[in-house]
Amino acid sequence: MKRIAIIGAGMAGLTLANELKAFADVQVYEKSKDYGGRMSTRCRNNYQFDHGAQFFIAKTPAFKEFLQPFIQKDLVVRWDARFVELTGNEVTYRWTWTDEVPHYVIAPSMNSLGKAMAKDLSMQLETHVNEIKKTGQRWQLTDREGKVLGSYEWVILAIPAKQVIELVPNEYKFKKEVAEKNMNACYSLMLGFKEALPLEWDAALVKETDISWICNNHSKPGRSSHYSLLIHSTNQWAEENIELDNEAVKKFLIQETSTVIQQDVSVAEHIDLHRWRYANIQKQYGDRSFVDNTNRLAAIGDWCIKGRVESAFLSGLDGAAKLKQLL
Ligand SMILES: Cc1cc2nc3c(=O)[nH]c(=O)nc-3n(C[C@H](O)[C@H](O)[C@H](O)COP(=O)(O)OP(=O)(O)OC[C@H]3O[C@@H](n4cnc5c(N)ncnc54)[C@H](O)[C@@H]3O)c2cc1C
Repeated sequence: MKRIAIIGAGMAGLTLANELKAFADVQVYEKSKDYGGRMSTRCRNNYQFDHGAQFFIAKTPAFKEFLQPFIQKDLVVRWDARFVELTGNEVTYRWTWTDEVPHYVIAPSMNSLGKAMAKDLSMQLETHVNEIKKTGQRWQLTDREGKVLGSYEWVILAIPAKQVIELVPNEYKFKKEVAEKNMNACYSLMLGFKEALPLEWDAALVKETDISWICNNHSKPGRSSHYSLLIHSTNQWAEENIELDNEAVKKFLIQETSTVIQQDVSVAEHIDLHRWRYANIQKQYGDRSFVDNTNRLAAIGDWCIKGRVESAFLSGLDGAAKLKQLL
């Protein structure tokens, strides 16, 4: 069997790895301590925050079918949030999510699905692939310390587009196409409170401010009961302020949130921030995966389609279908 290295254990990489494990000798490398990539949850001081993907929807039959066993195990669960749209600080629309359009989250945390998907895979966590170099007919991977990780016939990069460009060798056929994919930044502000705030909703899409999203994270099924708010900046504000220091970002987003919900959120007991350099991308047209058979290199990820969990899954599936023909 051919030896394949997959870099990145997000939804795209894990989907592809599971699809190919019967056809090849698959090894997954992931730089962080956990699986799931941008489907992630941070736990601090008894507070829990899904600071990446908030929820997801299944539109395609393939994704619905993939989710079914996890729904049966209560790993993928419906979040029937009391949803509002806020224009500034005015509620302009209300809707309680129902099974008509299920909005799913993972329980007990967003990375639990990644863990389940990685169960039967050969995985190496906390391994940052730093170089991909040709040695004979194979690609040799090295980590940040210069340690050789192994030699592979195929390398699949399941990481954000700009990181693909930093890592992929020059001979990769789709370098130009991937370089043109522009992903946007986002800040996640995480606030934990001793006392619940008197909000009449669980999740808010915010318009006409520099904040795009506020939610009561603890309102999601299976979460810690400690009251927590998760706030996302708009992509535009994050892009314009990507080099601002963390304290200044926190201060600004706290002020903005206080104005929008008309509560002083600076009283939070726990305040934390995460900067996503490559958070999401607008809808893309064209290839759903970029498989270069001449050089035996491929790139997949949500950025091929749209910044959504389902898109990452579909890109992984598309890459796997192409590779099955070639292995
Ligand atoms: C703030 C935010 C909010 C979002 N909200 C939603 C939402 O509400 N609904 C929705 O559907 N989607 C949402 N998304 C998008 C969703 O999270 C992504 O579409 C999806 O998780 C992308 O999966 P992926 O596998 O393509 O990439 P990723 O999840 O980014 O996986 C890539 C993995 O590669 C690893 N990696 C990178 N470089 C290396 C390297 N050199 N060596 C080893 N490992 C490496 C990373 O650590 C990561 O684990 C949101 C994303 C963000 C950031």
